[in-house]
Amino acid sequence: MQNRRNFIKNVSAFSLGGILAGKSVLANTTTSSVISINAPKKIGLQIYSLGKELYKDLPGGLKQLSQMGYSTLELAGYKDGKISDVEMSEFHKMAEDAGLKITSSHVNPPVREYTASNKEMIADFWKRVADEHANIGVKYIIQPGQPQTRSIEEVSTVCEVFNEAGEIAKSKGLVFGYHNHEMEFSRVIPGGKQMYFGRQALGNNPPEGTEVIYDRMLKLTDPELVIFELDVYWAVMGQVDPVEYMKKYPSRIRLLHIKDKAVLGESGMMNFEKIFELYYRNNIQGYFVELEGVSSGMQFEGVKGCIDYLLRSPFVK
Ligand code: MG
Repeated sequence: MQNRRNFIKNVSAFSLGGILAGKSVLANTTTSSVISINAPKKIGLQIYSLGKELYKDLPGGLKQLSQMGYSTLELAGYKDGKISDVEMSEFHKMAEDAGLKITSSHVNPPVREYTASNKEMIADFWKRVADEHANIGVKYIIQPGQPQTRSIEEVSTVCEVFNEAGEIAKSKGLVFGYHNHEMEFSRVIPGGKQMYFGRQALGNNPPEGTEVIYDRMLKLTDPELVIFELDVYWAVMGQVDPVEYMKKYPSRIRLLHIKDKAVLGESGMMNFEKIFELYYRNNIQGYFVELEGVSSGMQFEGVKGCIDYLLRSPFVK
């Protein structure tokens, strides 16, 4: 009988042969455990997690991330064709050299209030952004910042702009999406002037037509044009259960931000096991670890703590 080590070694050799021969690795295997032994966990990182630390030595920092086990990146810090003052093509080359694939990028339009008179300017902005990201092979452009949404009507305008951004992205072979914080889970009313956060904010008899902003966004954006990157931590901070949203909107929530109060798993307030169960069940396209809440200078250690948590968690495949 083979011991475990030899078994793993033999399986690896077989798999390599399978890959080289262009065949399915699992063609002649019957146990699903083989998959978990061979396939490395595909874990992404939102680079915002590292703040300015990343830029002290960008090529070196990217290599560190790769060594930790991260394989994909989501950019942050886009401005005028650059990522925090680094040319996008240069950033892309350095990531590639480190063995990292940039699959997504967070980008905010230059204005927060969307009106009939600035819609065209916003569309032009997305055209440029889509071209520049298509050039470096990024698939997702995700808006991480909440535009002004103080009323039902403002949310409708925002959704029109999102649909147009989605159309533009799609025409260049990309996918447009939206990333939440906590205030998207507040409510707005028709003709309103403010967002109402928390279940009690509008009392027991809210005006007719009251709606949760995020729900209205899901309703008014075109499923063919706009996906949602659910930040599970901010959903919890918005007083909702991210798992319930994933259950309710399996075809709309297509990316996740895996985030906790600080290093993943330490607060005990996030049900990552359940979140990952839904992630796999819904065949969600990817996730990015995001870290906040650690002191400056500790970010690399923090993102290492995050990936170590995911690597040792049996519910992450
Ligand atoms: Mg996030």
